[in-house]
Amino acid sequence: MKTNHILAEIPGFGAIFDCGHCGNLHLTVGPVSITLSADAYMQLMALLNTSAANYESWLQSNSKDASAIWPDHDSSEGVA
Ligand SMILES: [Zn+2]
Repeated sequence: MKTNHILAEIPGFGAIFDCGHCGNLHLTVGPVSITLSADAYMQLMALLNTSAANYESWLQSNSKDASAIWPDHDSSEGVA
């Protein structure tokens, strides 16, 4: 018997899970629910990862105070 399998969850925010029935992955954020095929899910993750990296770079180029948003960011790490 297949069951709901949660891949990740932030209580009160959202989750990504496999319902065990339709073969797709489900992303929920608040009242919004998106159903993704495995391929679409991987593309979304690439999209989010790229946007997060670009967002951090963009913040740093616009402010010297990026550490307020990325508290554990160590500027000595450099950028690849
Ligand atoms: Zn499903």
